[in-house]
Amino acid sequence: MRVKTLIVLEYDFDKKDVAYVSERALGALRLSGQVDAVIFAPDIENMRFSSPITQVHYGCTQTNKPLASDAVVDALAKIAKDYDVVCAAQTTWAKAALARVSTRLKRPMITGVSKIKSEGILIRSLYAGNLNGEYTVNTPYLMTLRADAFEATEKNEHVKIEPFEFKAVEGACESVDYKPSKEDLPSLVNAQVVVAGGQSVGADFTPLKNLALDMQAAVGATRAAADLGYVPYDWQIGQSGHRISPKIYLGLGVSGAAQHICGIKQAGQIFVINKDPEAPIFKQADYGLVADMFEVLPDLKRKLKE
Ligand SMILES: Cc1cc2nc3c(=O)[nH]c(=O)nc-3n(C[C@H](O)[C@H](O)[C@H](O)COP(=O)(O)OP(=O)(O)OC[C@H]3O[C@@H](n4cnc5c(N)ncnc54)[C@H](O)[C@@H]3O)c2cc1C
Repeated sequence: MRVKTLIVLEYDFDKKDVAYVSERALGALRLSGQVDAVIFAPDIENMRFSSPITQVHYGCTQTNKPLASDAVVDALAKIAKDYDVVCAAQTTWAKAALARVSTRLKRPMITGVSKIKSEGILIRSLYAGNLNGEYTVNTPYLMTLRADAFEATEKNEHVKIEPFEFKAVEGACESVDYKPSKEDLPSLVNAQVVVAGGQSVGADFTPLKNLALDMQAAVGATRAAADLGYVPYDWQIGQSGHRISPKIYLGLGVSGAAQHICGIKQAGQIFVINKDPEAPIFKQADYGLVADMFEVLPDLKRKLKE
């Protein structure tokens, strides 16, 4: 049977393009049969789509604010019912949107897939990445894909665009405002460089934010820092936070607990600074410096400027 797959692409309001996480999730579908996409966006005129997508259903949102997941559920369910597999990169938005469609269409849903072994045989990691679970699922079904587990695909020049009339669900949540990402920093899940801090940074993350601005990096944090209210939970990396896949991860005062490490396993290179030479994070690092981060930060900033 030739399986028909639909991927829900997220729109990045800063880049005005397909979100990096969606690009990476496409890597999971390289060997899938027919792959179509759906995107809700204010404008797609200058966008190019990547393989293996051959057709894009485009719903014009006519607003420059992100849509809540419940606003798209009618439109999404209508399109999704014609597909065997409906998927998206694993984000909070996509998990909520797909869960609603799963209920609407009475189809099963599996989250956090890190590998498609063969059609209907899926792998997802458990226990902070220490165990891989293998699941079988019959079509039709929905799934979210861990973007950090896949590589983005190349652009496809021959994609057919199928616009459809989009109407947001009445009474759905509405965004009241949209401000480009915090202090001009890139979003954590889409960033190529991430500067992360632990609770030892303290309540004022300004030194890390300034360093991140110099490096055009996003700022992340440990759960301990988020629990203490030093940073928003949206900055948390790890088992119960974001799983990230930047080219460079720089961890400052991060101890390296297993629950944090599982969120950075797909980072290209790991640089760490910790004053304790026994800190477990050094076992994960490509480059480690035993030092007080507050002492070396000014030098680091100066060197980066040079
Ligand atoms: C179910 C569950 C889920 C969890 N999920 C997550 C998760 O998603 N993400 C996550 O991060 N954690 C998670 N945790 C928490 C995790 O176990 C750790 O407690 C947490 O990651 C530790 O954060 P930390 O490194 O900031 O703090 P600590 O473990 O207290 O480490 C502080 C580090 O800072 C270093 N340090 C102190 N001062 C300086 C200085 N001046 N310069 C340089 N280094 C310095 C110390 O040597 C130490 O290594 C979870 C825990 C549980 C039980």
